[in-house]
Amino acid sequence: MSTSQPPPPTLSERYSGVPKRLASIAQEAKNRLWSNKTLPESVPRRRQVRLPPDTTQDAFDTAIATLRRDIGAENVVLNDRPLVDGWYLEHPNTHDAFHVVDQEDLVCSAVAYPGSTSEVQSVVKWANECAIPIYPISMGRNVGYGGSAPRVPGSVVIDLGKRMHKIINIDVENASCVVEPGVSYFALYEEIQKRNLPLWIDTPDLGGGSVLGNAIDRGVGYTPMGDHFANHCGMEVVLPNGELLRTGMGALPGKDGSDNPTWQSFQPSYGPYSDGIFSQSNFGIVTSMGFWLMHETGHQSYMITFPRDEDFPAIVEAIRPLAQKRILGNIPQLRHVAQELNVTGLPKSHWYSGSSPIPRDIIRQHAARMPCGDCSWVFYGTQYGDPTGIKSQLDIIKSEFAKIKGSKFFLPKDLPVDHYIHSRALVCSGVPVLREIDWLNWKPNAAHLFFSPITPTRAEDAQVVHEINVRLHKKYGFDLFPTLCVAGREMHYIANIIYDRASEDEKRSAAGLMRELIAASANEGYGEYRTHILFADQVAGTYKWNNNALMRFNETIKDALDPNGILAPGRNGIWPRKYRGKGWEILGSEVEKAVGGGTISPSTVTSKL
Ligand code: ADP
Repeated sequence: MSTSQPPPPTLSERYSGVPKRLASIAQEAKNRLWSNKTLPESVPRRRQVRLPPDTTQDAFDTAIATLRRDIGAENVVLNDRPLVDGWYLEHPNTHDAFHVVDQEDLVCSAVAYPGSTSEVQSVVKWANECAIPIYPISMGRNVGYGGSAPRVPGSVVIDLGKRMHKIINIDVENASCVVEPGVSYFALYEEIQKRNLPLWIDTPDLGGGSVLGNAIDRGVGYTPMGDHFANHCGMEVVLPNGELLRTGMGALPGKDGSDNPTWQSFQPSYGPYSDGIFSQSNFGIVTSMGFWLMHETGHQSYMITFPRDEDFPAIVEAIRPLAQKRILGNIPQLRHVAQELNVTGLPKSHWYSGSSPIPRDIIRQHAARMPCGDCSWVFYGTQYGDPTGIKSQLDIIKSEFAKIKGSKFFLPKDLPVDHYIHSRALVCSGVPVLREIDWLNWKPNAAHLFFSPITPTRAEDAQVVHEINVRLHKKYGFDLFPTLCVAGREMHYIANIIYDRASEDEKRSAAGLMRELIAASANEGYGEYRTHILFADQVAGTYKWNNNALMRFNETIKDALDPNGILAPGRNGIWPRKYRGKGWEILGSEVEKAVGGGTISPSTVTSKL
């Protein structure tokens, strides 16, 4: 273990900090990451402040002075210092900490910290007047998908979380809450514990993200309420022209100016259900959002191992009816056994001295000595309810999976205290943790990209996507770490591509791998549910049925709501008219070519606008 690093901030010190109960775990995780780090904390900047496109230094200075007057000088910070990648709990809001292209490429010019919805409205009005693109983030921990980096370099990042992190309401009777952008899963969970409420939240694998930000990026968790966007109820949104909108029942004023009493009870209102267009888009800035909470209940996590790689289709076929009949209690995860090695937090070099992907027989030898044994696939599930209900569900589940020869069933009590199942049991009962960060120790200076296609929960479809991943990971020399979140009708196949930020070759290969994975999957009819900002244009371009009808529809909405194109241009591949067809889209092998000195977008004031 290396020398101890300065302690990460706790929740009582900073809204984005870690709860006290996890302070020592966070400290150890940080020490481990630093012990595996060869890059310096930062290097001197090679370029000045990156200006927004088509903005002179004078115009930028004047605009920043106006913004400082509008929301307070201390709430507007120029991005002119050396860039620090930090880590999950001390993440930057200036650039992508997991930079694939040059660290200084996807950077903002400044960060603004509005303190209220009306200040968000003034920032939006300012952006329209000054023709400066803005890029809202809530917590900015969107790791693997671009972090807090704006798609258009030189945009002003609107960091909502720092000053807008109130839990506005927890309604115990309705089992719901309303939060501002800076409320993390950690913070919401701790508040519910403090008040001793019999409620659960739903958390993703890592608990430091924004409840609101994750939901509008359509992230997932693992209790029965794991679809975060599906379990939201009501939004308050600042539109790109500065107007304030309440969606759902919030559109109907409550008595005497109060909030509508059914705002967090009924998702639509009257007329089109508009909330969806504010998820994975650049149509508005969400300043508060309602969520349904779960009632606390009994729960039992378990693990099932399967011996052969070829069991994969049979496992998927077994899951489908169990999930459709709602016998499976949550969205279970199916992981390849290679994940058992990497979630220990030990570096790849501990398991294998070569630089190629770890050969299958070496994984096998190690797994044989681990609690999971020599297996190929590991299924993590959780059942909910009272002990009798859980027992009868588990009886059915065990007997269905027992049909796959050699499968083995484990409860947490059968496994050592440091086994990953104990962390899964927490996540699956709504307790936000940090354990998943450990797989970042796999490589020195590790960063990762997620490749996240969706397939039907059907063996033949799952197999096609899996085989594409096997073939292309091999071609580009990456270990394959698939985690499948499997529901009754669809599954998220999430491949975690881990690369060394210090190696241009690895970054180039990771980008090439992403490009080919996107194209090869789309050729077979499978598309990603979410992607890194660098690949947004490619992924959006695969949804091209009927001469790109969906994108043309999105562009129509974008142009109507944001005629000046100020809000997050290019996010999710949606470009406003001002930028469209002017070479901003990143297509083909442009990401690979930009690694190691190239630039992904205009580097000077004279741009493609
Ligand atoms: P988290 O920290 O939960 O992972 P982020 O705050 O990074 O989430 O949000 C994920 C992405 O969603 C951001 O990169 C941004 O593009 C978008 N986003 C986040 N918060 C907002 C918001 N309040 N309004 C509009 N878009 C947002």
